[in-house]
Amino acid sequence: AMVMVFGLAACGGSSDTTTTEGDAAEGGTGGKIGVSMPTQSLQRWNQDGSNMKAELEAAGYEVDLQYAGDNDIPTQVSQIENMIAGGCEVLVVAAIDGSSLTTALQGAAEKGIPVIAYDRLIMDSEAVSYYATFDNYKVGQMQGQYIVDALDLENAEGPFNIELVTGAPDDNNVNFFFGGAMDVLQPYIDSGKLVVPSGQTEKAQCATANWSTEEAQKRFENIISSVGYGPNGVKLDAVLCSNDSTSYGAQNALQAAGYTADNMPIITGQDCDKPNVKNIVSGLQSMSVFKDTRTLAEKVVGMVDAIMKGTEPEINDTETYDNGTGVIPSYLCDPVVVTVDNYKEMLIDSGYYTEADIA
Ligand code: BGC
Repeated sequence: AMVMVFGLAACGGSSDTTTTEGDAAEGGTGGKIGVSMPTQSLQRWNQDGSNMKAELEAAGYEVDLQYAGDNDIPTQVSQIENMIAGGCEVLVVAAIDGSSLTTALQGAAEKGIPVIAYDRLIMDSEAVSYYATFDNYKVGQMQGQYIVDALDLENAEGPFNIELVTGAPDDNNVNFFFGGAMDVLQPYIDSGKLVVPSGQTEKAQCATANWSTEEAQKRFENIISSVGYGPNGVKLDAVLCSNDSTSYGAQNALQAAGYTADNMPIITGQDCDKPNVKNIVSGLQSMSVFKDTRTLAEKVVGMVDAIMKGTEPEINDTETYDNGTGVIPSYLCDPVVVTVDNYKEMLIDSGYYTEADIA
């Protein structure tokens, strides 16, 4: 179904476009592309949105870029409906709730407008033609493996205490982040080398609505007080956090309980958000997973361009991401572990941040 949608659009079956192939290269007349982002309250989505807009415009397209307030699902739905009604020829969507767009996207399918799921898979929709993201399972594995290596779980006696924090339950990525990490950690939990004293090991128990820093902080404060963790209390060795916004919340709770850079547990993250990179440098956070939003934007612009020109977008995975209607052809970018040892090379030398950004 996905490829047929693509074929339709490529053959000019879509909407009321008057542009012809090749216009894109001439600048500004390549057609209108809708870009729907979930929130402006987290750094990465602002970067994703502005990178996408800049790169699509450079490729000659007009861009309708919308942010759905602060993760407001009805706002995202109506913004997408407006894009469909307003003549967008391809939609690029980072869903808030992967399962809430089925009806809205039916309109896209009816008009033959291809949809690219951006970063997060859109579930239960035939309208999704392609998916571009980072290898989300690998992100989780990297976080889990970092903890295994940092505690030297292969050799050390243990047991070590660990707590688990993941993200929004309506974000399909959570299944891969948490799943990937737990595939690495579970054998050590099963053997007793790792212990989760709160007893909260199920994905639903570890979830954080909207990936909110405040929610993560509240839950972690409860865990700290119920288990009795503290620099002078029960020893906490590691905290698995699926991303930086939730990791920041856990770090706030830990600092409030008296932890400092000198005795913080190992704690993971993802995104290399500026406040988190600062904490990596100061020793409060152990690692983050860097997902260069410039790379993702570039890949998605390439996909859009291919669709608009009637050629095949570049994909490198055709088996992992089933959205309930079938496997969506995907392009998975490569995530990278960032620590205090390589952040300069990865983030500063690459031009992602300036020194001042993280000072
Ligand atoms: C993204 C992460 C991000 C999280 C919260 C996930 O879907 O893949 O990079 O940290 O959402 O916005």
